[in-house]
Amino acid sequence: MEQKLFIYNTLSRKKEEFNPITPGRVGMYVCGPTVYGDAHLGHARPAITFDLLFRYLRHIGYKVRYIRNITDVGHLEHDADEGEDKIAKKARLEELEPMEVAQYYTNRYHAAMEALNVLPPSIEPHATGHIIEQIELVKEILDNGYAYVSQGSVYFDVEKYNKKYHYGKLSGRNLEDVINNSRALDGVGEKHNQVDFALWKCAQPQHIMRWPSPWSVGFPGWHCECTAMGRKYLGYHFDIHGGGMDLIFPHHECEIAQAVASQGREMVHYWMHNNMITINGQKMGKSLGNFITLAQFFSGEHESLTQAYSPMTIRFFILQAHYRSTVDFSNEALQASKKGLARLMEGMANLKRITPQAAGSVDMKYVDELRQKCYEAMNDDLNSPIVISHLFDACRVINTLVDKKATITADVLSSLSEVFHTFAFDILGLTEEVGNESGREEAFGKVVDMLLEQRMIAKANKDWATSDKIRDRLAELGFEVKDTKDGFTWRLNK
Ligand code: ZN
Repeated sequence: MEQKLFIYNTLSRKKEEFNPITPGRVGMYVCGPTVYGDAHLGHARPAITFDLLFRYLRHIGYKVRYIRNITDVGHLEHDADEGEDKIAKKARLEELEPMEVAQYYTNRYHAAMEALNVLPPSIEPHATGHIIEQIELVKEILDNGYAYVSQGSVYFDVEKYNKKYHYGKLSGRNLEDVINNSRALDGVGEKHNQVDFALWKCAQPQHIMRWPSPWSVGFPGWHCECTAMGRKYLGYHFDIHGGGMDLIFPHHECEIAQAVASQGREMVHYWMHNNMITINGQKMGKSLGNFITLAQFFSGEHESLTQAYSPMTIRFFILQAHYRSTVDFSNEALQASKKGLARLMEGMANLKRITPQAAGSVDMKYVDELRQKCYEAMNDDLNSPIVISHLFDACRVINTLVDKKATITADVLSSLSEVFHTFAFDILGLTEEVGNESGREEAFGKVVDMLLEQRMIAKANKDWATSDKIRDRLAELGFEVKDTKDGFTWRLNK
């Protein structure tokens, strides 16, 4: 590989040079959505973060197998491990088959991801499609003595595991902290210790999602699926496991324990976690009433939104922050992203308007340095905001070329275009949103400008009839036109 990529490993708590287990190949697993509700801003961040990694790894020459799962069973309401199954609950409330719920929200998730230009993963396994693999995993953990059966359910014996290994190594906790911070909930009577987590749950009579197992008719614990499916598709030892920071504990901590307890060694080499999105400084949550779905962002139909935001604005907004830093959503922040994206896209459009010259003041050295700086930023733990700032700097150079204050040769111009396309389109995954809402709005505005420019020509020619006709027709359509000292302004009164 020509590029040396450094990524922050949550496990070692430092940036490490990325070295894959098999040269030239990367196996990566990212925890996907639990499909019982519409995808929201919190889903967009891990999807875009790991899409950026997927795109970059492929760009620098790796063959990548990217697994992103669909959780359609076993994710319970409280602490992920207690209460009612999220999908079964939705199915019960809406009188649907659980798989109807899962399919419906999976389809909606896919549509949102496609709109955000998130590439589909190589494999998208469903938890319900891998019950056998999960039962096998539970058997291995039981055989190795790190789990016990209690009233038809199987629980992981955290205390026993912790005597030999370290439960809490990923989240930086020790067992004592975990015990002190855990709440006693239902199921505790079955557990030897309240910190033990379910590997298999015996189904209550009303529980509709159930499968036979050696222990009971029931369903797998939430943490099992990722260990079982990661191993099935990527092997006993693979490169990258990612997800949101909220998954570090307990989900990923439990995944590590399951892997070590079943196979005696760790499964994952690099653990990567994206930070969270807050809304006006608050954590996002259904109970807080600040829960905005991606569909609502795209349509603008939510009381907290002052307007609709296109999928590319959302993508750009997320990429403008480093994935390990927090992002706070506000209308102002998204409007700034919208403007920033428009500036970048205008720069790219302007590239096509430049006429190359026989000699140029912008030389190949400049373009090579720009490319190099963009690679350096990406190699430094996927620093997308720095890449964007380099591209903004280059937009200023493009403007001087458009204004004919600088010159460029055809060769250098084509290299400059190539750098923009590589980083903005291929790696950052941005697209031109022609024909979508904001594109149409922009075109519409330009048409109104054009009409008013015609009116100014008419006025200059003292053709009052034409000038008045344009103004009156626009007024009929709801446009308020004001003449100013050096031209005009207009607004559409709805
Ligand atoms: Zn997972």
